[in-house]
Amino acid sequence: MKMKLHAILLSIFVLAGCAHETAIKEQNEKPNVVIIFADDLGYGDLGVYGHPTIRTPHLDKLATEGQKWTNFYASSSICTPSRTGLLTGRLPIRSGMCSNERGVLFPDSKGGIPEYEILISELLKEQGYKTACVGKWHLGHLPQYLPTSNGFDSYYGIPYSNDMDRIDGAGFNETGPHPEVKYFNVPLMKDEEIIERPANQHTIVSRYTDESIKFIKENKDEPFFLYLAHSLPHVPLFASEKFEGTSKRGLYGDVVEEIDWSVGQIISALKENGLDKNTLVVFTSDNGPWLHFNEAGGSAGLLREGKGTSYEGGMREPGIFWWPEKVKPGVISDVGSTLDLFPTICKITGMDVPTDRIYDGVDISPVLFEEKATQRDEIFYYDNEELFAIRKGKWKIHYATRENAYSKQVKIVKHDPPLLYNLEVDPSEKYNLAADNAEIIEKLSHIKDAHLSSVEPVEDQLVLR
Ligand code: MG
Repeated sequence: MKMKLHAILLSIFVLAGCAHETAIKEQNEKPNVVIIFADDLGYGDLGVYGHPTIRTPHLDKLATEGQKWTNFYASSSICTPSRTGLLTGRLPIRSGMCSNERGVLFPDSKGGIPEYEILISELLKEQGYKTACVGKWHLGHLPQYLPTSNGFDSYYGIPYSNDMDRIDGAGFNETGPHPEVKYFNVPLMKDEEIIERPANQHTIVSRYTDESIKFIKENKDEPFFLYLAHSLPHVPLFASEKFEGTSKRGLYGDVVEEIDWSVGQIISALKENGLDKNTLVVFTSDNGPWLHFNEAGGSAGLLREGKGTSYEGGMREPGIFWWPEKVKPGVISDVGSTLDLFPTICKITGMDVPTDRIYDGVDISPVLFEEKATQRDEIFYYDNEELFAIRKGKWKIHYATRENAYSKQVKIVKHDPPLLYNLEVDPSEKYNLAADNAEIIEKLSHIKDAHLSSVEPVEDQLVLR
């Protein structure tokens, strides 16, 4: 009898062991994905990217333990198009989510992400992932465009930028460098309902963090996708009591340090729930710093210009990838893009990239996991609907540039002959080498023609109101 009991117990242990192994196998086949997306954070605004006074120990640690990319780009230099590119894997020109008439969506907009677009959230949801969007959406605030209509099980955040819905035309210009919440009547939404208006932006980073951690804990036994798109450090700036006045870099630094704290909280939650070895965490930003606001805007570091331009400072961003024991630690100078997240997530979660449309991203998992070179060496820089510049390898050509973006003296300057910079030698785009490189210019003009011929006209979503 004693022997029999022993045998039964042993077989239970064996079965339990098998079940455990199967669970681990399934976990590895369906890793979790967390994308943390800052708003208007510049290339030079993190400690690990060289900022001398903003302290970002949590992000610095992720960058050291994982991969820090130094040539990583957003898909646009402004909010709505950039978010479209990240979530669809396609340049926003392909979905009408960029416009020469209106750069982004506004509270009176009637358009949004078209139904025909496939978002990564939709594919993951079909695969059985739990999906949450926390933070700024900006792909349309009408019900059919909200996250819950686009593959996300839940939504908690603001539907467009934190500077919109201004009361009586007031705003950050009128209220000074320390604005008040009441001047920005931006709604905070839960799924499709407005739960607070104006959103208390002082506490918004910590509330996004709480919502994210709650989602992680609730779904620790199932594969999940968390898209946490912070609405800061976009101007107007708001920090919580705990962070306001604590950084050497002023309010902007306080806000970035609070976002860094939030990253630390999320990583702790992953570790506490045993999920860190099964989760890819990506950190980047939607576009460069809003330089128009001087000290209230961020810094692109050594890169030229910022938000709203096709110079490097407009689109090149911090790009941090972390997944312990999977992502090979290192500093990566290959060219990468938020457009690459879609095919990369497809690859690591065992999904096929749809074949019925053009994608502008490449799978970067060989770089992340095997230290192989990326397949990408081109970046297309759009100014709204116009292709202004192209990067091919180390070369960048400018056919046009936007000068004094966001000021009253804004002007578009066409360059014929175009400007040509060697970004490996001259990341600040100071020394025009066009005169000595006619062949390169010729080669790039063919790339330009081939790219433009791949773009089909579609309805402009941003002019609809
Ligand atoms: Mg932005």
